[in-house]
Amino acid sequence: MQNPFETEERLAFRETVRRYVNSEIKPYVDEWDEAGDFPWRIHEELGAMGYFGFGVSEQYGGLGFDDAFMRASASEEMARAGGTAVWAGVGGRGISIGPIERLANEEIRSQVLEDIVLGRKGSCLAITEPGGGSDVASMQTTAERDGEEWVLNGAKTFITGGMKGDYFVVGARTGGEGLLGISLFFVAADNTGFSRTPLERKMGWWASDQATLYFDNCRVPASHLMGEENRGFIAIMENFNFERLSLVAGAVGMMKTCLEESIAYARERITFGRPLLEHQVIRHKIADMSAKVDQIEAYMQLICWQINNGTMPVAEICKAKFSATKALAFCASEAMQIFGGAGYLRGNPIERIYREVKVFAIGGGSEEIMRDLAVRQMGL
Ligand SMILES: Cc1cc2nc3c(=O)[nH]c(=O)nc-3n(C[C@H](O)[C@H](O)[C@H](O)COP(=O)(O)OP(=O)(O)OC[C@H]3O[C@@H](n4cnc5c(N)ncnc54)[C@H](O)[C@@H]3O)c2cc1C
Repeated sequence: MQNPFETEERLAFRETVRRYVNSEIKPYVDEWDEAGDFPWRIHEELGAMGYFGFGVSEQYGGLGFDDAFMRASASEEMARAGGTAVWAGVGGRGISIGPIERLANEEIRSQVLEDIVLGRKGSCLAITEPGGGSDVASMQTTAERDGEEWVLNGAKTFITGGMKGDYFVVGARTGGEGLLGISLFFVAADNTGFSRTPLERKMGWWASDQATLYFDNCRVPASHLMGEENRGFIAIMENFNFERLSLVAGAVGMMKTCLEESIAYARERITFGRPLLEHQVIRHKIADMSAKVDQIEAYMQLICWQINNGTMPVAEICKAKFSATKALAFCASEAMQIFGGAGYLRGNPIERIYREVKVFAIGGGSEEIMRDLAVRQMGL
């Protein structure tokens, strides 16, 4: 579908990411998924391309500008690799750079930000706890002030990039109960009192790492408080908007892959003496999938336009996220149906996408929480 917001610069950036994904990621998706890992150089190569640089000043290796369309197209193109483990693996950095750029003090920023933005070091966002992820305001990890230090105790889980991460943005309780008692902290992986274990045997995202993090009297300097004390919840919610938009874009990329792979297969596969594509039922599946791609993509473009114009459309981002993950589930299921048994085999991109649908519906705010938040934004 023609995009009225397209510009030469945006198109050029999208093409750069697409070419890179096609030559350096797509051919290896199977191999890396089976190995449960992908090479670190991917972070550095994406970093050199500006993938992590949106909204970060050039002083810290960033692009010196932001553009919601480019952010979205980067996610979408990465997700078109036929699997999103690498996209997820580098994504931990994507969701933690914003808070470091905006909230960390100058000393931390000048020490670590360029290395993170250029992909030399890994950073992660650690919010979810073993006791729950949806109810962020109820987090139990604590940070207590002791002289010139903060002492963290508790655990975080499902943290993407957590085993390889060098730096963590950690949510912890510094005040009383509820959302006004939460602050953010910058914690380095070599800090005493910090340890981690991998989450293994996941349904999808095999090539990316997720970890449980433990804070056992983990002491950080007082200056590692990020932003204002007890104002962390608002910062977490603001940051979620970008994470959710990138999940919408990732879902669009996966849906496009489902559609393209389905059309290609339906052209070749003969049943009852004709290509599948000539059977009306299959044609209707293609039409339904294509309509969903167009709808979500158009919605996403309008949201990007609003963000670029200085408004953060929180309700629309929530509605787009649950609509995108529902549409993705539909497209993955229909694509699998068009492939028949061939789609059920490991190594087929549709099999992988089918397994990765659920993490999109749960991570970064589940479908239920997105609906809840959207309705609350409507003042209900
Ligand atoms: C692969 C993977 C990677 C992740 N990466 C990160 C990361 O990098 N950093 C990070 O901080 N977190 C990460 N997460 C965690 C993710 O954000 C949480 O899983 C998510 O927020 C849901 O939290 P939960 O799993 O604890 O489910 P819960 O909060 O226990 O909820 C369980 C179910 O109940 C539903 N539910 C909860 N409350 C309500 C309600 N009031 N009404 C109706 N339904 C409700 C939820 O929608 C969900 O379906 C990741 C998760 C996964 C699976």
